[in-house]
Amino acid sequence: MPECAISELGKIDPATRIRDVIRSVGFDLVFQPKVAFSHGKLGGIEVLVRWPEVVAGRQAPDQFVPLAEQHGLAPMLDLHVLERTLRTWRSWSALTRLCWSPFPISVNVSAMSVQDEDFLRSVTWLLAESPRPKLMFELTETAPFHNPLAAAQTLEALSGHGIQVSLDDFCTGFNNHERLDTLPVAELKIDREDTAKLDTIAGIRHVGQMIEQAKAAGLTVTAEGIECRDQWKTLRTLGCDYGQGYWLCPPLSASDAVEFVQDYTPSRLLTATNEEHSAF
Ligand code: C2E
Ligand code: MG
Ligand code: MG
Ligand code: MG
Repeated sequence: MPECAISELGKIDPATRIRDVIRSVGFDLVFQPKVAFSHGKLGGIEVLVRWPEVVAGRQAPDQFVPLAEQHGLAPMLDLHVLERTLRTWRSWSALTRLCWSPFPISVNVSAMSVQDEDFLRSVTWLLAESPRPKLMFELTETAPFHNPLAAAQTLEALSGHGIQVSLDDFCTGFNNHERLDTLPVAELKIDREDTAKLDTIAGIRHVGQMIEQAKAAGLTVTAEGIECRDQWKTLRTLGCDYGQGYWLCPPLSASDAVEFVQDYTPSRLLTATNEEHSAF
């Protein structure tokens, strides 16, 4: 994209800016690993979108993703992220056999996208090219369900393509028990705000109930936003399956992520965080 066009982006409306970024330099991606509480092995990697460094007016995803949703651009953004994720994963796979490991790559997907009639067709088209990773779609909580039947049908069809569904930030926003009952969900994610409240009895009880409910429904549970050892220990005691957070590993660039996966051992992570082995 020419320099002048990039600086001009600061002056146009949000929807046009998002569309222009997708059509020009593209959004950046970062990757945050997920670690199993039981043995400390890697359990997956979540892809998180970032405003590109070369484009002025940097915004956090919490700002521009809801804007994309409000302007009907969520499917376009999510497909763009999926396409870039597949491309990145293929470049990782070309580098090392280790990236063929069985854990899934989790991509965040708006509820708006799974209600869009063209989304399934576009995803199927993107997945036609092989090889491809095991995928999980994290259904974000910021958009409502106007057409739950369409969403359920799309997600059922995606299950047929081997894509698992995760309910992100469970019990916040629009991700509630109703979604659990109506969608083919494989994982629940505990929101970082709930992880932050694990230093209170009420917080522990609330998270404990969510984990219990998930287990009763045969789902796995991932807690995000783990920032200290105490949170890790409490979640492990409550029976949580996987954890994510700055204490374990921050979101990484694609090159740092592949290095992290290649070099990863549970004990290496613990050395890096100055913790003794009993954490697992
Ligand atoms: P999320 O999917 O719940 O992602 C978790 C957020 O917590 C990420 O913020 C991550 O960077 C941050 N985080 C990770 N570990 C820690 C920690 O230990 N402490 C704290 N305080 N935060 C931590 P991020 O990347 O800013 O993303 C915010 C939200 O934007 C995401 O929440 C997700 O809902 C949405 N999002 C991100 N990427 C995409 C995307 O590609 N598509 C869609 N539709 N939404 C996306
Ligand atoms: Mg997520
Ligand atoms: Mg969220
Ligand atoms: Mg989340």
